[in-house]
Amino acid sequence: MNSYQGKTFAVVTYGCQMNVHESEKIRGILSSLAMLEIDDVEKADVVVFNTCCIREGAEDRAYNNVAALKKSKAENPAKVIVICGCMPQQKQGKYDLATKLPFVDIIIGTYNINALAQYLLLYAVNKKRIIDILDKPNSNLDSEFCVRDDATNAYVNIIYGCNKFCTYCIVPYVRGREMSRTPQTIYNEVKDLVQNKGYKYITLLGQNVNSYGKDLKEKTSFSELLTYLCTIEGDFKIKFMTSHPMDLGDDLIKTMKKEPKIAKALHLPVQSGSSAILKRMNRHYDIRHYYRIIRKLKHAMPNISLSTDIIVGFPGETEKDFNLTLKLLKKVKYDQVFAFMYSRRTGTPAAEFEDQIDEKVKNIRVNKLLRLQKIIQKEQVKKYFNKTYNCLIKFINGVAVGITDGGKEIYIPNYKYVNQNYFANVKIEGVRNHKLSGVIK
Ligand code: SF4
Repeated sequence: MNSYQGKTFAVVTYGCQMNVHESEKIRGILSSLAMLEIDDVEKADVVVFNTCCIREGAEDRAYNNVAALKKSKAENPAKVIVICGCMPQQKQGKYDLATKLPFVDIIIGTYNINALAQYLLLYAVNKKRIIDILDKPNSNLDSEFCVRDDATNAYVNIIYGCNKFCTYCIVPYVRGREMSRTPQTIYNEVKDLVQNKGYKYITLLGQNVNSYGKDLKEKTSFSELLTYLCTIEGDFKIKFMTSHPMDLGDDLIKTMKKEPKIAKALHLPVQSGSSAILKRMNRHYDIRHYYRIIRKLKHAMPNISLSTDIIVGFPGETEKDFNLTLKLLKKVKYDQVFAFMYSRRTGTPAAEFEDQIDEKVKNIRVNKLLRLQKIIQKEQVKKYFNKTYNCLIKFINGVAVGITDGGKEIYIPNYKYVNQNYFANVKIEGVRNHKLSGVIK
């Protein structure tokens, strides 16, 4: 029996898949204290805000949402409010959380989330505010207690931190240097997820998965890890994110092509179509290198689904640079593009660059880019006709649907079976109003 048993908790998450997965672990930790999860942050006995500082919007939202609980804490002083993750970890953040949010009880960073249960138990005894930001990890946060959001796709961390230091990015300052988990630990976790828990997709996570294993005593490359994981028996597929174009080698392309258990979908952030901007971003590759990789990927896997991230309005971006990004979109024809306006992050080199772009210009450019991508995506639908994709078969609203590795839904009107949740080849025989339909082959 502990002082939290039977009490309720709510977890609020901001940011990327890494944070989403970390929140799954936080929920696991709180459940192991015999607490019950609810959605209502006003009513919950413990509220954990797992924050992100990669973009100003996420930071502002988190700050405002925590601030909104001030009244609820005043009415119920026994309520425990926790802030963790990237916002407390950054040294020169916009918000001094401890001063501006004096009613928050526990503030910890990215390196000690795994000790959340201990912090809560300590707080229950002393009733004294805890602020503990570590400079380096005390240990990795493994997923043994994880309470996962999704029953089909499971996130699995393979590497933490980043060594790349892109000039716009705060991650290396708040998540530290690269630290890989061992192949055996990852293998055991994936095997359990597939064989005992029935997951169909495993998404391997890291800020830069292609750097996997370089820091291990027994060096293992990312493609070697993938090959090893593909020896696990079962009907499942592996996805991964995020890949850095600089570290994506021919060995990975070969492994992706060879292994049927690796999804034929890749998120490959380019950030800009201009080599001059890529240089200022410290991305370590130029656009010719990026085009080369895309060519190799499409040659090896003609049906591969590609997506990317783009930052619009990076300091110094001229109309010419921006047009090169539009040209890139037209050439690659991504299935999905995640475009963001550059947001100045205190503590990063790019925040000090003098030639910042006006917000209005960024806005015009990002809208132009999104409009173009919308047209490309509409045209792209035609490319599916008469092709066969290996899909996960599911019933959605009572109708059988095949979901491609890239997430496209193919309706299967004449589905004769009762089974779902298995992989099968689906041939696309109809494309109407941007909707796909097909048959199982
Ligand atoms: S590769 Fe660049 S953008 Fe990605 S996490 Fe590392 S520093 Fe940030």
